[in-house]
Amino acid sequence: MYKSCELVKHGLCFFDGSLAICCHSPADQINGQTPPFIRDTYNGEIVPKEELFQAMDKYADIFKQGGCPAVCANCFKIEEKEWDEEKYINQITIAHFTKCNADCIYCANNLAPHERKQNAYKIYPILKNYIDNGIIKKGCEFHISGGEFSIYEEADDLLDLLAISGFAKVIIATNAIKYSDKLFKALNAGNTFVCVSLDCGSRKLFKKIKRIDAFDKVIENLEKYATTETSKNAMHLKYIIIPSINDNIKEFNEFLKIAKKIGIKNIIIDLEGRYSRYTNNKIDSYFIDIALKMEEIAKEQNFNTELYQFFAHNTTNKKIKRNHFIINFIKSIKFKYFSKDIKELYKHHNYGSKLNK
Ligand code: SF4
Ligand code: SF4
Repeated sequence: MYKSCELVKHGLCFFDGSLAICCHSPADQINGQTPPFIRDTYNGEIVPKEELFQAMDKYADIFKQGGCPAVCANCFKIEEKEWDEEKYINQITIAHFTKCNADCIYCANNLAPHERKQNAYKIYPILKNYIDNGIIKKGCEFHISGGEFSIYEEADDLLDLLAISGFAKVIIATNAIKYSDKLFKALNAGNTFVCVSLDCGSRKLFKKIKRIDAFDKVIENLEKYATTETSKNAMHLKYIIIPSINDNIKEFNEFLKIAKKIGIKNIIIDLEGRYSRYTNNKIDSYFIDIALKMEEIAKEQNFNTELYQFFAHNTTNKKIKRNHFIINFIKSIKFKYFSKDIKELYKHHNYGSKLNK
């Protein structure tokens, strides 16, 4: 029994240019800090099994000896329990492509649309090899984000390999601007889940946040995805609270009306990630209060709710539980009121599209 984390022994994360164990490091990549690397330079090579697990053991052994790797310090994934010694992978994040058909003001890519890549390397052959060689365990959880999955060139092949085959559990972030029939099939197969950040209930605000006039198309596609009970249950509609833009109950109520009309039951509420980075995790109580109020309203209307994850990623509080982080956050952190000018808060959008400057 010792403190460690599941991913340090069984996780993989494919980035554009590097291969890491996870993307959960509290270290802030925007500020140049790094995740726990397996290879810090990587371009789609099939890393042999021995090298893979040797690299992971360098981090895992520090935990085993009672320490904590610097890149893992304060990570919310750390827990104390018995850990197995087997060599297999059971959680993978795919985030090596950045191309997208939207240009959200909060996008973590830090890239202008013309700089975003279809893919840095092909991932299907790597995953196929690892599956065929028993390195990836059946039932492995895949998180696919990075750019927009529905326009990613390997999307259909990945859905066949991982989801429609029934091999894995697949969680996909999509903006739903483009409909994918294969994705619908995967949702309907019952082991794929999508998260769509709608963030608003109106075309005008959608355009402001996503910087593309595609609100009506997204609603149309959500309706197409939600045509069976199984596919409906696999859909999660997300409201990312963006300071000064959609941080009000009126907009959230419009958002809920859309969810109800489509029949989506699962609502995720989050806070825009760079805000908490920018404010050094001193989150204004206004945003905590409004997130809790939103959750209460959604629960009253019988939605399933989750309070999600940027707080958890960005706080140093170890007690936070991923699925109820705000409650824990409130209990354990002394908030400082953050009173800077709102324009100052949004300096960080300088990281966003260069085309929109
Ligand atoms: S402790 Fe956190 S940062 Fe370290 S490997 Fe686990 S999930 Fe990644
Ligand atoms: S949908 Fe928005 S947040 Fe997601 S990759 Fe595209 S621009 Fe970024």
